[in-house]
Amino acid sequence: MEQVRGGSYAWVQPDGGWGLSNAGVVVGGSESLLVDTLFDLAHTRRMLEATAVLTEQAPIRHVVNTHGNGDHWFGNELVSPEASIVAAQGSVEDMHAVGPRTVQELVSAPGAVGDYGRAIFGRYDFTGITPRYPDHAFTGEHVVSVGGTEVLLVDVGPAHTRGDTVVYCERDRVVYTGDIMFAGGTPIMWEGPVQNWVAACRRILDLGADLAVPGHGPVSAVSRIREMVDYLEFVRDETVPRFEAGMTSLEAATDIDLGSFSGWPEAERLAVNVATVYRELTTETEPPSGPELFGCMAALLGTTKE
Ligand SMILES: [Zn+2]
Repeated sequence: MEQVRGGSYAWVQPDGGWGLSNAGVVVGGSESLLVDTLFDLAHTRRMLEATAVLTEQAPIRHVVNTHGNGDHWFGNELVSPEASIVAAQGSVEDMHAVGPRTVQELVSAPGAVGDYGRAIFGRYDFTGITPRYPDHAFTGEHVVSVGGTEVLLVDVGPAHTRGDTVVYCERDRVVYTGDIMFAGGTPIMWEGPVQNWVAACRRILDLGADLAVPGHGPVSAVSRIREMVDYLEFVRDETVPRFEAGMTSLEAATDIDLGSFSGWPEAERLAVNVATVYRELTTETEPPSGPELFGCMAALLGTTKE
């Protein structure tokens, strides 16, 4: 558990790759707010044990799930029942749509999709998880008083997912961005549109924070979020002409040269990002399902390896 500044702490899981998300603790007076739980019970238990040095004096009374991807909430059942869990309305919908059982199916699937699922998620155990959904959903903005310290929640989604909450502790000028920011990794745009994600980055920059705890990757200067804007605008600008030329989204993703972004880990997420831009551009074709998107990433990874 690293102290970011003042009473704001981060639990950072190197190297921030698939499912290796960060959590955070904001201590205010005699209580604490936890930002996110982790992808499975073992990872969450380890994180909660590390928070004990803080939470013995200031128990966790509030939990925020920044969004509905499992690596930010599957561990919720391990948090004290006395803690109240809050998330954006869109995140709650995502949680009900894709729970631990769905992810377990992915990693148990035969063939290339399952092989890819096992390669990226093989270190986690999705069995025996009982989903604990948030107690409260909010839209727009919501202020939580953590022992008298105000913590601002802003739903900046849909962008990465249907609801994307950023958690801002003005006292410490620290923002927890959820997966709006991947520090040193490729962002993945499940929901979009691109313009909303760009606006989300501007909103984060306007908060007045100077340190960011990203959803994945090391604690960084908040200004680093501009890398997300650069990448997403590049992907959109490369995708549109390929869409207009009649390529399928996988053909477009295969054809795009990521240039300076090609060295970012998880570059195959481009397949999902292009598919999401396609969804912005047309309603004529049925959008790909979750397993199909994992299949596209597996295919793109296969072509770039050759
Ligand atoms: Zn994540």
